Amino acid sequence: MAGLDFLNQEIDQLKKDGLFRKNRVLSGPQGARAVIDGRPVVNLSSNDYLGLANDPRLKEAAIDGVRTWGAGTAAVRTIIGTMTIHQELEQRLARFKHTAAAIVFQSGFTCNSGVVPAIVGEGDVIISDELNHASIIDGARLSKAAIVRYRHRDMGDLETKLKQAGSARRRLVVTDGVFSMDGDIAPLPEIVALCRRYDAISYVDDAHASGVLGESGRGSVHHFHLDGQVDIQVGTLSKAVGVLGGYVASSQNLIDWLVHRGRPFLFSTSHPPAVTMACLKALEIMETEPERHQRLWSNTAHFKGKLQALGFDCGHSETPITPVMVGEGSRAMEMSDRLMAEGVFAQGIAYPTVAKDKGRLRTIVTAGHTIADLDEASAAFAKVGRQMGLIR
Ligand SMILES: *Cc1c(COP(=O)(O)O)cnc(C)c1O
Repeated sequence: MAGLDFLNQEIDQLKKDGLFRKNRVLSGPQGARAVIDGRPVVNLSSNDYLGLANDPRLKEAAIDGVRTWGAGTAAVRTIIGTMTIHQELEQRLARFKHTAAAIVFQSGFTCNSGVVPAIVGEGDVIISDELNHASIIDGARLSKAAIVRYRHRDMGDLETKLKQAGSARRRLVVTDGVFSMDGDIAPLPEIVALCRRYDAISYVDDAHASGVLGESGRGSVHHFHLDGQVDIQVGTLSKAVGVLGGYVASSQNLIDWLVHRGRPFLFSTSHPPAVTMACLKALEIMETEPERHQRLWSNTAHFKGKLQALGFDCGHSETPITPVMVGEGSRAMEMSDRLMAEGVFAQGIAYPTVAKDKGRLRTIVTAGHTIADLDEASAAFAKVGRQMGLIR
């Protein structure tokens, strides 16, 4: 055994467990229908909630960005990589989120990995929902603060953990707004009340709530009428907004602090103009075309209703993310393959993304689907579900 030989064993094990995957490949744009591995299918696995990723107006904005501002910025934000369009996007996001200020990072992932270590460190405690996103976990690990996990959405357990952290210098409570693998929503009113009672910082990662929850997709905080009551809101520009990036919406002080201590902001190059211009156009469309948001939710109700009527176990989903619980991870992968043969793509999700016995298909409905797309998909689910003995 030498060098990277240990990987032979690891890869063999993945294959033995039925968990070795090659990436599915698009040979055209992202969308409700897409050509995946050379096959036209109904696509139930993108995060393109509002159907903006391939919108002609976003594409024009991106082209205009290239023509006017160039292909890249060739600098980090804090040296000479800030253009007026970057500032414009941040101001627009702050208005959209009803916060004093906002700051854009390269991605939602870099937001979490950069923000958490900027606000807590040794002597502090991070209290985190056990199903939080990997980028929150990585940010927590980088921070050197103690990490305590509370049971998923369990407010009694959160309160216990807050009490136990009473002597820490600072307490940070962090949660996904919408949980990415289950589609359920964090109980923010209770979390905010507990943070107040136990003097903790509240932090919501709204990657899957941005564009989905609240008026015009303002997010989970707005959905619960909690504007001004959550300390830190993280959002993504990579999912419903259809482009790429992450942002923090918060107080002016926190944004100023992140300009000095948010490491990805300081040490990684800023967004190319095409990205920023396309994001600005997406926000404009989100605010002026509420019908997209309405269609997202009516499509969600239609498809979720079909799956439940067929008898599938859809967990506790409350959003366009609807899991179909299967059990073993390898069974989830098998079901995904069988659906693909029927012209439907739904990603199988297995360990380590979810617990070993919680393998599932994760479906995501978008505003871009037609009712015919969704009915075709649910017919394929019915056929494959019966073949595999998941429904009768
Ligand atoms: C997708 C996701 C991220 C990462 O966002 P990107 O912009 O894709 O890097 C962060 N947090 C949560 C909860 C997510 O679902």
